[in-house]
Amino acid sequence: MAKSKYEYVKFFEKEDTLLKNTWAVVRIDGRGFHKFTAAHCFEKPNDPRGLSLMNRAAQEVMLQIHDIIIGYGESDEFSFVISKKSTLYNRRESKICSTIVSIFTANYVFYWNEYMPDVPLQYPPCFDGRIVLYPSDENLRDYLSWRQADCHINNLYNTCFWTIVQSGVTETEAEAKLRGTVSAQKNEMLFTEYGINYSNLPAMYRRGSVLIRDKIEVKSINTSGKEVTRQKSTILIIHDDIIGSKFWKERKHLLSS
Ligand code: ATP
Ligand code: ATP
Ligand code: MG
Ligand code: MG
Repeated sequence: MAKSKYEYVKFFEKEDTLLKNTWAVVRIDGRGFHKFTAAHCFEKPNDPRGLSLMNRAAQEVMLQIHDIIIGYGESDEFSFVISKKSTLYNRRESKICSTIVSIFTANYVFYWNEYMPDVPLQYPPCFDGRIVLYPSDENLRDYLSWRQADCHINNLYNTCFWTIVQSGVTETEAEAKLRGTVSAQKNEMLFTEYGINYSNLPAMYRRGSVLIRDKIEVKSINTSGKEVTRQKSTILIIHDDIIGSKFWKERKHLLSS
C-alpha cells in the first residue's frame, strides 16, 4: 500500500526500549485513594475487601502477562517484576506499563461488586504506573524489601493512629500522641493501652501480599467417561516475609527465570 504524506509523523515517536538483561519493575498506585477509600467507606486502617480486590486485579494481570515472575501489593499499590529475559512487546516501556495499568484498573472495576457487594461504586477509580529497571538480583531484592518495609512502617503507624481515634480522640490529638515515637513504643502502646498484640494482626496487613505462580491439579471427566487429571496454572497469594533469605532460598527458580 502506498504511504500517505502524513506517515512521516511516526518519526516523532521516541524509542523507549527497556535495557536488555535487567529486571523491570512496574509499580502502579491508586490515584487519590485517600479520598477514594473514604468515599467508599473502607474500614480503617485496613479494609480486607479492598486489599482482596487489589489482589484479585493483580492475579488477573499475572494470568494475562506471563513474563511477570512475582507481584507484591500493599495499600493502593502493586509492583510487578518482569523477567530479565522478557521480550514482551519488544521491551517497549510505555506499551508494557500502560497495558499492565489498564488490565489492572479494568479488573479492579470488573470485580468491584464481588468484593464490595454493599458499596456502589461512586466514580471510576484510576491508577498511575511507572517502570524502574534493576540491574542486579540484589537491587531487585532490595526494591521488594523497601516496599515490604514501607508496608510495615505505614501499617504500624496507621494501626496505632486509628486505634487511638476509635477510642474517642480527635485525629489531631492522635497525631500528637504518636509524634516522635519509635516502633517499639508503638507496639508497647498498642499492647498496654489498647490490648492489641500487633504480631497477631493478619499477615496481609503487616506484610502485604506476594503473588507467585503455581500449578494445581484439576480433575475432570473426558468424553469416554474416564476421570482425567490435568495441571492448571494459578496465581498463589501468600503473605510471607520477602526481606529475609528464606523465601528466596526456597524458591531459587524465581531469580533464575
Ligand atoms: P496519590 O494519588 O498521590 O497516590 P493517595 O491518596 O492515593 O494519593 P497514597 O499515599 O497512595 O495516597 O495512600 C493511599 C491511601 O489509601 C492511604 O490513605 C491508605 O490508608 C488508603 N488505603 C489504601 N488501601 C486501603 C484499604 N484496603 N483500606 C483502607 N484504606 C486504604
Ligand atoms: P494490539 O493489541 O497490538 O493493539 P489489536 O487487535 O488491538 O492489537 P489494532 O491494530 O489496535 O489491533 O486494531 C484494532 C482492531 O479493532 C482492528 O481490527 C479494527 O478493525 C477493530 N476495531 C476497532 N474499533 C472498532 C469498531 N468501532 N468497530 C469495529 N471494529 C473495530
Ligand atoms: Mg495512591
Ligand atoms: Mg499508595
